[in-house]
Amino acid sequence: MSDTSPDSPPSVDLVIPVYNEAQAAAEFHQQLRAVIDQLPNRFSILYIDDGSTDDTLTILEDIAVVDERVRVIELSRNFGHQAALTAGLDQSQGEIVITMDGDGEHPPQLIPEMLKLADAGYDIVLTQRADSRHAPLFKRWTSHQFYRLINRIGNTRILPGGADFRLMKRATVDALCGMREYQRFLRGMVAWMGYRTVILPYAPAERLGGRSKYSLRQMLRLGMSAVFSFSLVPLYISITIGGVFLLLALAEMIYVLSFWIGGQQASLAPGWSSLMFVLLVVGGVLMITLGIVGIYVGYIFQETKRRPIYLIRAIRPNQPPENGDD
Ligand code: UDP
Ligand code: MG
Repeated sequence: MSDTSPDSPPSVDLVIPVYNEAQAAAEFHQQLRAVIDQLPNRFSILYIDDGSTDDTLTILEDIAVVDERVRVIELSRNFGHQAALTAGLDQSQGEIVITMDGDGEHPPQLIPEMLKLADAGYDIVLTQRADSRHAPLFKRWTSHQFYRLINRIGNTRILPGGADFRLMKRATVDALCGMREYQRFLRGMVAWMGYRTVILPYAPAERLGGRSKYSLRQMLRLGMSAVFSFSLVPLYISITIGGVFLLLALAEMIYVLSFWIGGQQASLAPGWSSLMFVLLVVGGVLMITLGIVGIYVGYIFQETKRRPIYLIRAIRPNQPPENGDD
């Protein structure tokens, strides 16, 4: 903790992952400054460059030269949004940490309100995106369906329309940093932790430039982490389907037996096609079931390797590089 007196406002770290945001970074920083310069807290701003291939890193370094509150954490390659966030959380030291996107979609104007709620005694302030007219219909629809699904089958409740724009107090950040799973869905992990949480709705702003870095594939991958690392329901579903098919087979056996017992076996049609049908269906179900088991095994495989979640190439200004392993 800091050595400031209990009455002085808490120190705040802003954790902002950026990946190829050359078109937004400078303007975002201006917007951010305009807000935090008005606040009494001591801020430090951690930009995590997630292996950008454009000018983002240079722009961030230039910002760090003129704004001494800024630190730039350069990852060794693109590790993905959730890993970049983790890198920033691990490096943070403030009594309060706020994570947000560096593309302007998370309005810095919300920060004072978030700090007020922290001051009022909440440990975590989640923000909830009001339905955005800016977002493409497809993204809104998939996001809506996704939260419906994950809240039905998962055992933690995850806020629909939640993004990785949230405030966390030191103790909760430390707890989150202690969770080192490789497959990360931070929204779910934060929901899992509990603590005193409050929800702050906001209207998202438009991207300042560039375009979304979440491709359909990345969205799917994040969704899969959410489903398969938070829920065993897919396994239960496959077991249930297997059970239903076993019951069907049993019913058929009884049916066929009844012909034999009645001495009418001659009237049984030579059942090649029906046999084939059952074989195919059962084969299909087996494949699906195996696939689902395979996904869990894959996740276990990744976790047992215990690789670091990210690697840091450099921290500027001047800090020795270190791993995301501990
Ligand atoms: N981002 C990142 N690494 C990635 C993809 C995205 O650090 O591999 C950053 C990105 O620069 C932005 C934030 O994560 O600050 C959210 O990404 P984006 O805006 O592309 O996602 P969307 O808001 O469209 O869901
Ligand atoms: Mg965005």
